[in-house]
Amino acid sequence: SARRVETFGTTIFTEINVLAQQYHALNLGQGKPDFDTPSDIVAELVKASQAGNYNQYAPGPGTPDLRQAVAHHAARFYDLDIDPDRGVIVTAGATEGLLSCVLGLVDPGDEVIVIEPFYDSYVPNIIMAGAVPVFVPLHPPTWTFDPDELRAAFSNKTRAIILNSPHNPTGRVFTREELTLLAELCIEHDVIVISDEVYEHLTLGDASYLSIATLPGMFERTVTVSSAGKSFSATGWKIGWVYGHPDILDGVARAHQFITFAVHHPTQQAVAYALNQPDSYYRAFKEMYEDKVELLMSSLEGSGLQYSRPQGTYFIMADFSHVFDGMPFDFTRYLISEIGVACIPPESMYSKEHRHIGKNYVRFSFCKSDEALRQARIPLQKLR
Ligand code: PMP
Ligand code: GLN
Repeated sequence: SARRVETFGTTIFTEINVLAQQYHALNLGQGKPDFDTPSDIVAELVKASQAGNYNQYAPGPGTPDLRQAVAHHAARFYDLDIDPDRGVIVTAGATEGLLSCVLGLVDPGDEVIVIEPFYDSYVPNIIMAGAVPVFVPLHPPTWTFDPDELRAAFSNKTRAIILNSPHNPTGRVFTREELTLLAELCIEHDVIVISDEVYEHLTLGDASYLSIATLPGMFERTVTVSSAGKSFSATGWKIGWVYGHPDILDGVARAHQFITFAVHHPTQQAVAYALNQPDSYYRAFKEMYEDKVELLMSSLEGSGLQYSRPQGTYFIMADFSHVFDGMPFDFTRYLISEIGVACIPPESMYSKEHRHIGKNYVRFSFCKSDEALRQARIPLQKLR
């Protein structure tokens, strides 16, 4: 393989799926719903594929209907004024959106700040761009960053920071104070924010979600990335988007043209329909996960694992150090083979130098049927 991919292993999600299947374990690993997309949204996809005019190439930046829907959605939820023609790019999931942002906005040798633990595609994206990741860890059990560590990560080589809130895997939703500090540092050092908001509709309880593009001085320096996967339980569709000021979107658009050019056409029409769902849809979606987090927490009760209620996402990080002596991957393997429940060890979400910070934790996802969550009882004895 080429040098730029030499350090990339098999993603942890694939690795755990293989193990879970081998042991027939209940899979609370990968964030993949085990239930289907709402049927009215699927019906729109069927309708679009049969309409006779959506089965050839879509416009490269996305269909006009979807770009309009993305702009409406940003106005409706964040009061942002997005130009549907020049301020939105439709991508193959948030995954391609993130890559297009990095390749389109970051030069070789630039530094990109990454908050740890991180979603596993960020660092490979940075490496493929020939740039250098600089890591700022969140500290358990509150998963907050140290303001001095954040400040120290900025240098005259910093081009961008990748931010993810609600945060996979910790379930944090960053507060206005945290985001304000981050925004001030970005303005001071002339840094752009690549804001991964795929869990934007997944805040739990009274956590309130703030999009960093809405802070003073930030719209011009933020590209916001999201997708249909989580909000519409359609992770298989891989339709995402990037939006922002047309000047900054220009670089993203240039990269996107030569990565995928255009993405699946009929599905874009179904996602446009989905984004325009009434408030009752988004409310019911959030309530569904508020019930599911309770179910998972009751199943974990009595396991000896320590965790707190996440503020957002469909993940819980649990500390296993009181019941098991070993690294997260060892604990995961034990849980899969002996207890029959799969989770995700966070080793691949850290740089080598900070891996020890997450050494007591594994991640469970609760985007699963109520029945599966009830079955996920984890009767751990004291093992150490
Ligand atoms: N970012 C985060 C934080 C995620 O959890 C995911 C979902 N795997 C993605 C990006 C990728 O989203 P998509 O499936 O739309 O490519
Ligand atoms: N976002 C999901 C997770 O974090 C799945 C990611 C993937 O399979 N690449 O579990």
